[in-house]
Amino acid sequence: MATPPSSGGSTPHSTGHASVPEVAGAAAHRLVIIGSGPAGWTAAIYAARAQLHPVVYIGVPKADPGPILPGGQLMLTTEVENYPGFEHGIQGPAMMEIFQKQAQRFGTVVAPEDIVSVDFSKRPFTMTTSEGAVVRAQSVIVATGATANWLGLENEMRLARSGGGVSACAVCDGALPAFRNQVLAVVGGGDTAMEEATYLTKFASTVYIVHRRDSFRASKIMQERFMSRHNAKVLWNSAVVDVVGDQTIEGVLIEDTVTKQRSRLDVKGLFIAIGHTPTTKFLKTSGLEFDESGYIVLKSRGSVTNIPGVFAAGDVADGQYRQAVTAAGMGCQAALDAERWLAAEGVH
Ligand SMILES: Cc1cc2nc3c(=O)[nH]c(=O)nc-3n(C[C@H](O)[C@H](O)[C@H](O)COP(=O)(O)OP(=O)(O)OC[C@H]3O[C@@H](n4cnc5c(N)ncnc54)[C@H](O)[C@@H]3O)c2cc1C
Repeated sequence: MATPPSSGGSTPHSTGHASVPEVAGAAAHRLVIIGSGPAGWTAAIYAARAQLHPVVYIGVPKADPGPILPGGQLMLTTEVENYPGFEHGIQGPAMMEIFQKQAQRFGTVVAPEDIVSVDFSKRPFTMTTSEGAVVRAQSVIVATGATANWLGLENEMRLARSGGGVSACAVCDGALPAFRNQVLAVVGGGDTAMEEATYLTKFASTVYIVHRRDSFRASKIMQERFMSRHNAKVLWNSAVVDVVGDQTIEGVLIEDTVTKQRSRLDVKGLFIAIGHTPTTKFLKTSGLEFDESGYIVLKSRGSVTNIPGVFAAGDVADGQYRQAVTAAGMGCQAALDAERWLAAEGVH
């Protein structure tokens, strides 16, 4: 079950941090990886086994984690049921601990700091950490992920944190028993909301899309795909203004955005599909190319960005799939791309 950030944050993986080797003068790490989610750790496993001696900047744990959370988004999750290899599912934080241990087993160095700014205009690349240290690297993998956007209602966040039937990921949680043959609501009006709602129609008795306007901004084909389902319904000009339920969700309070009249809709699940924000703010002046939503643009099927030697992997470069297994796959690609690029550049 997906849960959003809680105040107090999740426990970072503090086990076995090796100190980061000093890089003096022109010497530089062969590979620095920014981010410790599935993409970052998978890149580290591959790069460490290829003897690139990667250093992973995992981010500093914070009371209100926001976009920087050592271990990444799965630290905010309870059960992960769809990652291959875990037949009976696994808790998100436990899974990320295994990723980290596997990366460290091959010599990955873990740096518990944020990267706050970068200079990718010349090589070796330089990056500044939250401690003020300057780090040099011949190649960099950006794996800084993304964060789901929430409505920000108190009861929404409470029930999402406790696994009480509020989620920001239908593909992750929609198939759980609690949602089967139930009335569910999806908030949003774009392609993601259509996709999530259409997915939920396979399991639910009825799926309502609650949308604040009188038309969707989603593509026609995605709208039709949802509307063609026998159990699909839309509440136009409607905003969720509260979530009702103690341990688990029982309903949502809807406000008509035109008349301001309020009514209750009984639901057993609420899925928020109002977009994600890729974690790229600290890269804004890096020269990296971003799309209109802020995702890093990849130049090929792999992880190549517009800056030679800088690679990107996972949710920071993927607004479409946003799954742990796809992020891990992209991390693998990035490490292989970096290894080949360094070899071609004669960096040993
Ligand atoms: C609540 C929730 C539940 C989910 N459940 C599932 C599920 O059941 N199954 C599934 O497959 N997927 C699930 N997902 C999606 C999955 O978590 C993501 O697709 C996956 O974590 C993306 O991995 P990533 O490595 O790209 O990025 P992330 O996991 O987002 O990791 C990003 C990393 O970058 C670090 N970072 C960011 N900025 C900096 C910086 N400036 N300096 C240093 N470090 C930085 C962060 O600390 C973090 O370690 C869920 C997502 C959410 C939000």
